[in-house]
Amino acid sequence: MRLFLKLFLSHLLVALLALVLLLLLAEAFAPAFYRGHVERMLHALSMMGGGMMGEALRRDLEEGLRSTLTAALLAALPLAALGALLTASFASLRLARTARLLAEGSRRMAEGEYGVRLPLLERDELGELALHFNRLAEALEKVEKTRAELIGTVAHELRTPLAALQGYAEGLMDGVLSKEKAAEGILREVKAMRRLVEDLSLVSRVEAKAVEIRPRPLDPKGLLEEALARFQSAFQAKGVALSLEAQDPLPQVWADEERVLQVLANLLTNALRYTPQGGEVRLRAFRQGEAVAFQVADTGPGIPEEHLPHIFERFYRVDKARSRKEGGSGVGLTVAKGLVEAMGGRIFVESRVGEGTTFTFTLPLYTGLTLKG
Ligand code: ADP
Repeated sequence: MRLFLKLFLSHLLVALLALVLLLLLAEAFAPAFYRGHVERMLHALSMMGGGMMGEALRRDLEEGLRSTLTAALLAALPLAALGALLTASFASLRLARTARLLAEGSRRMAEGEYGVRLPLLERDELGELALHFNRLAEALEKVEKTRAELIGTVAHELRTPLAALQGYAEGLMDGVLSKEKAAEGILREVKAMRRLVEDLSLVSRVEAKAVEIRPRPLDPKGLLEEALARFQSAFQAKGVALSLEAQDPLPQVWADEERVLQVLANLLTNALRYTPQGGEVRLRAFRQGEAVAFQVADTGPGIPEEHLPHIFERFYRVDKARSRKEGGSGVGLTVAKGLVEAMGGRIFVESRVGEGTTFTFTLPLYTGLTLKG
């Protein structure tokens, strides 16, 4: 049976039952109400000398009143039934219309039409349902858009090294490139593609919150020293100074050592990449409330303000050509942010064009009570 018919019949049944009940109860209770009145009339009549006809008159009066009441109730019944019919159909129509809109909307959404939105007709639970439906549609639309964008960007990212590889192969065939030059170029492009694939796989795991974090109490200064040791020679080779300052003493943090070193490596790689020779990069650690803050500050070119809100997005690059040429896959910061957040911290950036950039991330303190995971 259609929803409207079901609702209509159940509403109508309830209204009709109420009417019948009202009729029966009115008939049952009425004598108790008019009996007192009849008594008073009889009493008044007997005072006027009509005492003889008392019993017959009482019966006549009571019957008269009862039949008048019954007639009035029966006359009102069709009108009341009509009222019940109208109310039942109005209420059922309203509910059935909302249900139909929801059904139609979810059918369209199931077919991949994420742009559907329901009108917010009611201010009750049904209205709330429509509101949640719209929010769900919005979220799905966003996911779908990101998915399409991601496929587009990955295709775009692969196009550049593939075109270069084709160029080297053609150069070899035409004899315009020496074997050594071509092999060098091919190796560089393959390495870039390999890094891209590895970064993509890590980014997808970070975004799906599927990276395993094995936290343990760690000494902040020790972490910075380890990162410094890993990067010292690369900085020396480029002629950029790398220094370390850590507040003393600093409490331990609760984090995964390899993941923290990976975050520091991503930030240091960028600092090294973008800071020109003669520049300086400082590693810092200090207490910040219930966390320890780690900083990587460089004296590089800085990032223009309008780009700052986007630099943690996948494949976002300020200077696209430069970043790609210098080996950036465009996901280093996305990975850093995902890892920091997975360990319960936050990451920020401050930058001034011409002065430098400072990345700060926090890690929670080890309290001794922190549970594993
Ligand atoms: P990439 O692999 O391209 O470096 P990231 O996600 O690590 O990608 O960084 C995103 C973009 O942010 C970079 O392309 C660069 O434009 C900018 N950026 C990151 N770190 C710095 C920095 N220390 N100085 C200047 N620009 C930076």
